[in-house]
Amino acid sequence: MNLSTLQFLSQSRQTPELFDKKMTMALGEQTSVSIFAPGIIQFEPVLAQAGADAKGNTLKAPKSIVLSCGIHGNETAPIEICDAIVQDLLAGKLSSPHRLLFIFGNLPAMDIAERFVEENLNRLFNTNESEENMEQKRAQVIKQAVAEFFDNENKPSSHVDTDRYHYDLHTAIRESKNEKFAVYPFLHGQAHNKDQLRFLSACGVNTILLSQSPTSTFSYYTSYHYYSHSFTVELGKVRPFGENNADDFAAVTTSLRQLISSESLDLPAYQACPLEVFEVKQVIDKSSNDFRLTFSDDTPNFMDFSEGAVLAVDGDITYTATQDGEAIVFPNANVAIGQRALLTVVPCEL
Ligand SMILES: [Zn+2]
Repeated sequence: MNLSTLQFLSQSRQTPELFDKKMTMALGEQTSVSIFAPGIIQFEPVLAQAGADAKGNTLKAPKSIVLSCGIHGNETAPIEICDAIVQDLLAGKLSSPHRLLFIFGNLPAMDIAERFVEENLNRLFNTNESEENMEQKRAQVIKQAVAEFFDNENKPSSHVDTDRYHYDLHTAIRESKNEKFAVYPFLHGQAHNKDQLRFLSACGVNTILLSQSPTSTFSYYTSYHYYSHSFTVELGKVRPFGENNADDFAAVTTSLRQLISSESLDLPAYQACPLEVFEVKQVIDKSSNDFRLTFSDDTPNFMDFSEGAVLAVDGDITYTATQDGEAIVFPNANVAIGQRALLTVVPCEL
């Protein structure tokens, strides 16, 4: 296989059988490339792999960075951003001192321009190992690649000293009052990392939602099992391939390329970042077929309400905003009974 002419994403979509077995190849003299499966490719500096330089000095461990996109197949902008980075790495136009793993999540869903084929892939990153449909099988393949990449024999002792990073890149179905935002997975009491928020701010992501419970998302999975700095990053609104406006994604594209190509990043001070941090106030599950939201379908994420405003009605139960400035996120009245239909969030300080 000639890496310099490989079109990794398009060949993964068109001829996935090419990548059925894991393969490792040299890219020039500095980099080793491993392809785990269709849509999953790793770049590793040869010296870092050896662990020592020519004189036998131990090298400082580089960052291990996972960039995932297309976990929802129709979220095209992050797929285009990662595809371009992978192509530049393969062509030698971009190089990295770090270990990199790129995951193009749901390839069949990309082909039909849908969020998923049978099941939402971003609800399958838990301990369940069933492989009954396409997404369940894919979740196992992705989990296996991540396990090999984040070798847990060298697991950091906490989120504090970790050199592992995972940005799971998405675009949202719904308009958002704060167009770009990130979900910071539940850390089980460990401290949130302000340097990570400085990096997200440089990416143009200034709204941070602190999750307060375990979830079945990919970012929670890597955060919890591998102590990586993990985020679900929402970069704007879903559009078809080729219809994304590059200007909307310039900051994130530039920042990701700097992260990949630089030893360290020059970031603005935390106080200088226009960050807004929210925490979850209410998790509202649908308990009956009478569940309805009181605001219109096109209400953007992070729209805020006054104390006492009615947000949802579920048979005899009425849900109201408990304080001024309480905002709604991810409303969906069409979920199954027992599932989450709405989150509310309130501003908080880190
Ligand atoms: Zn998504």
